[in-house]
Amino acid sequence: MKKEIITRAGIPIELCEYLDDFYLISEMANKTLDELRSGLPIWIPAEIYRQMNLSVWVYSDIRVNAFCYYKDEKNYIALSLGLLTEFWNEVNDFVNQENLALVIKLSESNKPYVIDTLYFCMLNFAIAHEFGHIVHGHLREGKCENGIDEMLCISNDSDHKNKKMKNWMTQLKEYDADSFAVSIQSRMFLKYWKNDDMQWNLCVFDRMFITNYLCFRTFAEKTGRNFDTYITKNIAEYDHPHPGIRMYYSCIHYLDWLGRVFGFGENTIKILLSGVHLIVTYEKNVLEKEKVKESYFSIAYTKKGVQHVMNLHNGWQEWTEHFNQYAYIPIEKNENIDSIMFSLDEKGEFINKEEN
Ligand SMILES: [Zn+2]
Repeated sequence: MKKEIITRAGIPIELCEYLDDFYLISEMANKTLDELRSGLPIWIPAEIYRQMNLSVWVYSDIRVNAFCYYKDEKNYIALSLGLLTEFWNEVNDFVNQENLALVIKLSESNKPYVIDTLYFCMLNFAIAHEFGHIVHGHLREGKCENGIDEMLCISNDSDHKNKKMKNWMTQLKEYDADSFAVSIQSRMFLKYWKNDDMQWNLCVFDRMFITNYLCFRTFAEKTGRNFDTYITKNIAEYDHPHPGIRMYYSCIHYLDWLGRVFGFGENTIKILLSGVHLIVTYEKNVLEKEKVKESYFSIAYTKKGVQHVMNLHNGWQEWTEHFNQYAYIPIEKNENIDSIMFSLDEKGEFINKEEN
C-alpha cells in the first residue's frame, strides 16, 4: 500500500492509499475509493489532469474532515476516517429511518443498493469539491497556506474586521468549489437519463438532491460549526456557508447544467421542483421540523437566505479574474443575479414579495 507523509502547520500527517482492514468501514470505503479514483481523469482534459499531479488519500483521524493540499507542484486530496465513517452512518440512518416511506418508497430488497449508491455519490461530491479547490487555483493562489480543510479551523486573527474578511473569502471559495462539484455530479447523473422514461429520470435525480442534502448536513453538524443562530448572526461570522444556502445555490447550478443540456423546458423544471419538494417535505414530514429556523433548507427561502445566496454568487464573480491566474482550467464568469424571490418570513409564514 502506498503511503506518504506530509506536514501541515508543523504537524506530520500520514496519508495512506487505503484504510487498514480493521475498521468496520474499511472494505466498503476502500472499494468505493478505487471506483472514485478511476473516474477522476475524465473530469478535465487529459493533459491538464496530468499537470495537476493529483492523488487521493485517506488518513486515520476520527474527526470528520476532507482537505486538499499543494506542495512541490503536487496536489493531494485526503479524506479522514471520520468522514468515511460518518457518511456511511448518515446514509444508513437515512435509508433505514422509520418514517422515510412518508416521502420515498423503498423496498427492503432495494435498500442495500440505494445505500451503496448514495455513499458513492456523497464521496464523489466531496472529492469533486476538493478537486474544485485545486483546479480553480485556490491553493496555488497561496493565501491559504497550501491547504484547505472542511472542518472548522478557527482563524487566530484578533482583528474582528480581518477575521470577517477572511471568513467571507473562505465562503466564496467554498461556493466556487461546490459549483465545480455540482458540474461533475450533473454530468454523472446525466449518464442515467432515459429519453422515454421521465418517471425514472425523476427518481434518479431525486437521489442527486438527497446526496447533496446529506453531504451538507454532515459537514454542518459534524465539523464543529453551529448554525443554530444563523438567522440573527452576520453571515460573515461563518467561515463556511449554512447547509441550506449550499443546498439552494447548488440547486440553481443544477438547473443551469440541466438547462444547458435539455433547455429550460418542462422536464428540467420538473426535475428541479421534484428534488426541492423532496428535501422540503423530508425535513417537514420525516424529521418533523416545524420551525423554519430548524429546517436547513427552508431557511434559504427567507429574505436573509436569498440575499446570502446572491452575495456569494455575485461576490465570487469579482474574484474569477484573479483566480484565473492560478487555475488549471478557466473559471467561468457568470452574470450577476439581481434578485431572487423569497417566499418565507423568519417565522416560516409564506409571503410573496420580490426582492429588489
Ligand atoms: Zn471546501
